[in-house]
Amino acid sequence: MAKKIYINPGHSDKDPGAVGYETERKLNVAVSKHMNDFLLENFVCETKITPGTMDSLTAICNEANSWGADLFVSIHFNAGGGDGYEALVYSQKRVPLGEIFAKYVKAAGQNLRLYGAAPGVKIRTDLSVLANTVMPAIANEGAFVDNQKDIQDWNDDVELKKLGIAYAQAAAEFLGLEKKVQQKSVYYVRYSTTLGPFADKKTADELLAVLKANGYRDAAVSVSKEAGA
Ligand SMILES: [Zn+2]
Repeated sequence: MAKKIYINPGHSDKDPGAVGYETERKLNVAVSKHMNDFLLENFVCETKITPGTMDSLTAICNEANSWGADLFVSIHFNAGGGDGYEALVYSQKRVPLGEIFAKYVKAAGQNLRLYGAAPGVKIRTDLSVLANTVMPAIANEGAFVDNQKDIQDWNDDVELKKLGIAYAQAAAEFLGLEKKVQQKSVYYVRYSTTLGPFADKKTADELLAVLKANGYRDAAVSVSKEAGA
């Protein structure tokens, strides 16, 4: 059965979160979307994102618990005048989960806050989403919205996408997610054995639709001798 990742963009439609040089909620939503898209495009998994109308932390935890999530990922930005990324986890047992996230965030170009249980990882027992979820859970604080130097590298869509991809890769590593098949060579095998041969452009277009529906993201069809059966 496909593993399930619950993505929780911090705060809600009614609560902007921290406000500084940027408004936290807007960034949380953007990073969550990029994380979700990258996971679904590249890995065998299921995802669920907290709706913006849901603002009770208890309801959010209940939803993740009853859905049977394998990993809970809350996405926030920080405030209070610090600098850099930190992962928040509930206990020492979850420090390795935080370290995986910190590794990918650092590789994406963000600095880690260097105190806590490990570089970029801090234990917090007072956060509802960490305390009241039954599966491994992490809250990410991507950068400080009230530190102009820190947030200026993480406030446009290209940068927010980098962060979302880093979180997706970390979730995939932690859960050992299976990659979706995308190799062209597999397409040719299918073309000539399972689904082919296809003699004209119309059937080639039908084949392309089948391939895309089956996760062959970069599939391309050309009706030529070397592709044909
Ligand atoms: Zn927040």
